[in-house]
Amino acid sequence: MNCIFCDIVSKTSPASIIYEDDTCLAFLDIYPVNEGHAIVIPKHHCSDLQECPPQTAQHLIAVVQKINAAIMKAAGCNGVINEIRNGLEADQEIMHFNVHAVPRKLNDGFGWFFPPGYRERPIEREKLDRLAEAVRQNLKA
Ligand SMILES: [Zn+2]
Repeated sequence: MNCIFCDIVSKTSPASIIYEDDTCLAFLDIYPVNEGHAIVIPKHHCSDLQECPPQTAQHLIAVVQKINAAIMKAAGCNGVINEIRNGLEADQEIMHFNVHAVPRKLNDGFGWFFPPGYRERPIEREKLDRLAEAVRQNLKA
């Protein structure tokens, strides 16, 4: 399988590694949104969060907490966006589960962008309740 993140784990591709343990690896993004933009990945290949063993995901989030604190200090900012994309439809670019940690400063030009006017179009309660029931049924499955 051709996977750039597995290549970084095996050290066959270069990366500016900032953290490593038996389970996960963190490195700086070569295309940073902001300075200090980091990526945290499990060492064992899994395509997305759904495929990641829960214990690995739990550990990875604990590492993300440490990385967030460290990059805020290094980048001199007080905010970080963590992003997980699951699947092509969610714009996941590398199909190896990853968590982005992007340092944020006020007016840095980056952020979540929502469709225009979405705040003016609340969904009807009945429709929302039907969807909630469908999700609850899937949680039981
Ligand atoms: Zn991989």
